Amino acid sequence: MPDDLQQLGEFGVIELFSQAAKPAGSRVVLGIGDDCAVWRVSEAEYLLVTTDMLVERVHFLREYITPRQLGRKTLMVNLSDIAAMGGQPTAAFLAMGLTADLKSEYLTEFRDGLLECALEYNVDLLGGDTVAAQADMVFCLTVLGVTNPDQLVTRAGARPGDRIMLAGFVGDSAAGLHLILSKSAKRLEHGYQKLIRAHLEPQAQVALGRLLASKKLVSAMIDVSDGVEQDLAHICRASAVGADIQADSLPLSKQACQLAKSAGIDPLDWGLSGGEDFVLLFCCAEDKEDQIKNCCLTELGTQVFTIGTITEDKKIRVNSQGVWLDRAAKGYDHFPGSLA
Ligand SMILES: [Mg+2]
Repeated sequence: MPDDLQQLGEFGVIELFSQAAKPAGSRVVLGIGDDCAVWRVSEAEYLLVTTDMLVERVHFLREYITPRQLGRKTLMVNLSDIAAMGGQPTAAFLAMGLTADLKSEYLTEFRDGLLECALEYNVDLLGGDTVAAQADMVFCLTVLGVTNPDQLVTRAGARPGDRIMLAGFVGDSAAGLHLILSKSAKRLEHGYQKLIRAHLEPQAQVALGRLLASKKLVSAMIDVSDGVEQDLAHICRASAVGADIQADSLPLSKQACQLAKSAGIDPLDWGLSGGEDFVLLFCCAEDKEDQIKNCCLTELGTQVFTIGTITEDKKIRVNSQGVWLDRAAKGYDHFPGSLA
């Protein structure tokens, strides 16, 4: 085993724990390794549990996100994991590491953003913990949700021949982050505000996840937090399948493509490996493809895009204009290393 975190990689760290933790509880349906853990409350109800942490200078820079936006985002990234299982979020617990220089006004704004989002999604804040932090703020949220056992969607159900679909544009958040960090004057242009908002104010697709799960239309689902290639790789690993992505079908926004071009960046990099888009990525049987597109559009006004097909060969390949691209799966890894 590698002896440092850099070599182990984020997913190596997760494996370190998941291999040793052998849940003994008879009510455990799913432990480590999906968007949420799943716990059987009764034959009629499963409890979903997820936890996600935002660390200053790793996930956000204090000067570039308002406390209200940060409060909303802290909850939204967790709601997105509940959405990925097809669940309904219900309750949240907030643990915070706060630095001594923090003004109470900052915390009030953060609270208001979080509670405003909680109200929109019918989530109750029920508790948490507060500790002192030395240099960087930390916000860690645990969210509970529920689902009907026969509507649970995991990462593990994709089958060869399934269509791979995305419920929105990818790459906007990475483009927005690029704008923020480059401090380019372009960030003030009206057309690019959408990219910055995609990064600072993501939307969890809870209603969409519920719709797909309740109609039993999808075989596997995940939310795009680390990038399409990396998150699709999680589905492929859990389902023991591979995937062919048609890069030319990737839903990239006009603004992201335009910005990429002016910055000399391949927009495919943002679309395939940019993280934090928080759109749902899911697989479905070929004969469900049109039904999904129609019902997402008519019931929620959400456009869904087909980006590829699940294969048998346990590899992820990306094709553009008939040519297979040479891409190692990228995406965000907190401890980049051999197991990424
Ligand atoms: Mg997730």
